Amino acid sequence: MREHHELYIDGSWRAPLEPSVLELTDPATGEPNARISLGGEADVDAAVAAAKRAFTSYSQTTPQDRIALLERVLAEYDSRSEDLAQAVTEELGAPLALARGAHVPSGRVQIATAIEVLKSYEFTEMRGDTEVRKEPLGVAGLITPWNFPVLQPVGKTVSALAAGSTAVLKPAQSTPYTAIILAEILDAAGVPAGVFNLVNGRGSVIGSRLSSHPDVGVISFTGSLAAQTQVAMAAAPTAKRVVSELGGKSPHILLPDADLNIAVETAMTWLMAMTGQLCSAPTRTLVPRERLEEFLAVLVPAVENIVLGDPRAQETTMGPLISAEQWDTVQGYINKGIEEGARLVTGGLGKPEGLEAGHFVKPTVFVDVDNSMTIAREEIFGPVMSVITYDTVEEAVEIANDTPFGLAAYVGGEDLQAARAVAEQIQAGTVLINDVEFDWSAPWGGYKQSGNGREFGPDGMAEYLETKVLRGA
Ligand code: NAD
Repeated sequence: MREHHELYIDGSWRAPLEPSVLELTDPATGEPNARISLGGEADVDAAVAAAKRAFTSYSQTTPQDRIALLERVLAEYDSRSEDLAQAVTEELGAPLALARGAHVPSGRVQIATAIEVLKSYEFTEMRGDTEVRKEPLGVAGLITPWNFPVLQPVGKTVSALAAGSTAVLKPAQSTPYTAIILAEILDAAGVPAGVFNLVNGRGSVIGSRLSSHPDVGVISFTGSLAAQTQVAMAAAPTAKRVVSELGGKSPHILLPDADLNIAVETAMTWLMAMTGQLCSAPTRTLVPRERLEEFLAVLVPAVENIVLGDPRAQETTMGPLISAEQWDTVQGYINKGIEEGARLVTGGLGKPEGLEAGHFVKPTVFVDVDNSMTIAREEIFGPVMSVITYDTVEEAVEIANDTPFGLAAYVGGEDLQAARAVAEQIQAGTVLINDVEFDWSAPWGGYKQSGNGREFGPDGMAEYLETKVLRGA
């Protein structure tokens, strides 16, 4: 049982000013596994005041100073990587292999990339005799979701710190352990007091206060559109920048010449492995009508071979959903799919046999899905695939773009030129063709209701910079 009852403010661990205790449970067993103390508004005020004080000197550091600092952070991160992986498994229920192989490395690459970005970033540019400077913006409020508990807090924090801004992090209340370890890493690396602060707590309290705080210059928010709406409204009176990374309903277009093994691999990696709890999961699979049966013949056995179970067991390839609430939501969508006339080819309602205690859900595939059905329009955040057939590539592109979201898209096709031509027509922040590797340093963000900013790499750092023009005679 983990017990953690302190917040990290102004370089030290301290009890919340208005404490309230939250009990957390193991997603794989439903048993309590931790108690943490949540902060209140007064703690946010203390953290923002510390970050504001620290900004005075930290914003004057050189890129070289910050490279040296981030190199120490990277060394500490590496020394804590197994602790981070164990924490991800405990709080999120992700298989340990996935925690070690994807969650922890995705945070590491953010630190390494920030160091590289600082080595070459042009903070000053002359346009004629006008100097255009990029300066640290101020205090950043970082609000993160539970599904990527290492990547999100680490990515936002190192981008802010690389820019010379200071930060107050509010992680999702259901995944606080990784953020606590991050604070320990930054503390051990010698990040100056106040430059980074951690306030655990509820979105409606901590997130809301950060969003409206007059001394916070930018909010970087990742989560749902509903919460982002609250954040943006709270932020509006102080005209602060709000950078949003939101949900998705990503299409996966299999072109007529697609390699079906690669297509299934894409679905297994980006949808099933994370129990569908991925903003960019390919949840709408668009298949040429004449290849549907052939596709299902490869897909269904692969889905039925998924091994659900104890996330710590080596053979497990899919963990539980994070919470009972999420389990209910996913069941509601599966039920809706059946009610609206989609055909279930594998998976379905209820818990998998023998896994009644945790929040396990059956990996599910629907066919005969129409793009107007609820399961094709709304983000489910569970391992549920909607297969939609199409007759022409033009129709496939139209269906792909017929969504309020625009975070990611996937295209499968042997003719790379044809696949690229389709990718260019899709309104999404990232389009991946075939089994190409993900580039963690490329700008990440969405079109439409998937958000309005970009994270990672130089674009991510730029969200924490302000532009100043300097002209002198
Ligand atoms: P959420 O919106 O419920 O919560 C996200 C964060 O916002 C949490 O820290 C929460 O406490 C906080 N919050 C909630 N209400 C708030 C308020 N009124 N004011 C300020 N903060 C508030 O989302 P979630 O369930 O934690 O995460 C899942 C969502 O995140 C999905 O929609 C997913 O697609 C999205 N997501 C997007 C990306 C991306 O990069 N685009 C990455 C990961 C997750």
